[in-house]
Amino acid sequence: MTVPEVFATGTSDVGRVREANEDDLFVGTSVVAVADGMGGHLAGEVASATALEPVRALDGKVFADPESALSSLRDAVVEANATVSRMAADEPTYRGMGTTLTAAMVEGRRLHLAHVGDSRAYLLRQGSFSQVTDDHTLVQHLIDEGQITVEEAATHPQRSIITRAIGVSPEVDVDAVSLDLEEGDQLLLCSDGLTGVVPDERIAEELRSGDAPQATLDRLVEAANEAGGPDNITIVLLRYGDPQAPPAATTASSAPVRIGTRDESSGEDWAGRLGAYGALTRDGATVGGTDAEESAGIGRVLGRATAVLLGVALLAGLAFLGGRFLLDRSFYVGLEGDDVVIYQGVDAEVGPFTLNRVAERTEVTVDELAPFYVSVLEDGAQATDLQDARRIVDGAPRREEPDDDPAEADDVPSSADPDDGADDEDDEDGPS
Ligand code: MG
Repeated sequence: MTVPEVFATGTSDVGRVREANEDDLFVGTSVVAVADGMGGHLAGEVASATALEPVRALDGKVFADPESALSSLRDAVVEANATVSRMAADEPTYRGMGTTLTAAMVEGRRLHLAHVGDSRAYLLRQGSFSQVTDDHTLVQHLIDEGQITVEEAATHPQRSIITRAIGVSPEVDVDAVSLDLEEGDQLLLCSDGLTGVVPDERIAEELRSGDAPQATLDRLVEAANEAGGPDNITIVLLRYGDPQAPPAATTASSAPVRIGTRDESSGEDWAGRLGAYGALTRDGATVGGTDAEESAGIGRVLGRATAVLLGVALLAGLAFLGGRFLLDRSFYVGLEGDDVVIYQGVDAEVGPFTLNRVAERTEVTVDELAPFYVSVLEDGAQATDLQDARRIVDGAPRREEPDDDPAEADDVPSSADPDDGADDEDDEDGPS
């Protein structure tokens, strides 16, 4: 039995609003990929192009077994992240850059996928259309939590906020999955410049037409541009055999595809998916518009990268690590009543929904801490990871012990007037 031929083609269009195309794509013989760069002109282009390199290097390679093929693809994405994040850290003009990366590799009858961000992979199999990748976005998280519906997500003011990206942190969780291909399968990879404005049903319709691949891509680009073309549009179409050929023997797998990249995500579910809400404000105000209508204009024109960067500026409390705007794993030390606790997530809310939870409780209470530090913790002290959060707790300045000189201890300002005593005593050992 011969393996069906693989045909892949891709296209990228700047859209109607952006001046530059920060998306990039790769179409090889066995590997295809889409990357949606962010971070501003040049930086975004560098991020997406750089991220594709390790993936490109896998093209045409033969692997001993499917497991090593998938792990190589995953490793390539990890390497892409390491390279882009190093460049972002080393080069000031690249600071804050990042990219999505969705890569697919066909190996015999197996398809391997590795994915970070909100670009997407869709599969059309025997007329049934499904999204194979999981969006690493705030709205997807809210959908998963049952807090908003898919319909609400489409117009959600924060729908452009991504929670995982390549290049914003030295480490990254990569979603990776393998599945068996069937003759006639069509895989579509695309950036959000397509999916942000063209409904899934329209995309499915174009794939179902079975027209020539280039004509199909042209029509999809046209559809995105007719809808305003607010973002760069990049699409790769991969066909496994002739989509118009009658299906081979019907198998059990002809049911809708249920597999998703999330199933084999290396990330611990909540932590991996929560990622970082880098574009949220501390007070819960929104970025890129305060309602759906405003957001449809401003949010899209500003674009995701700008929204993320704006968020950073607003998220003063999270501006650490040289201004990284996305926190892959966010922890901070804060208060719960009188107790010092370590939170996972960010100190922010979207409407009624908080974006954090208590990760660890400590034995420390506010009455043990130096008064000035209590107000620091009221605002939340950002940590780079859980260990760092524990160090912050251990190192938190304590209230002066009364043992040495009981008389002096009486002079420790009460929490009711924390500032008045600052002039005549220097036990307010602030961060000097
Ligand atoms: Mg985009």
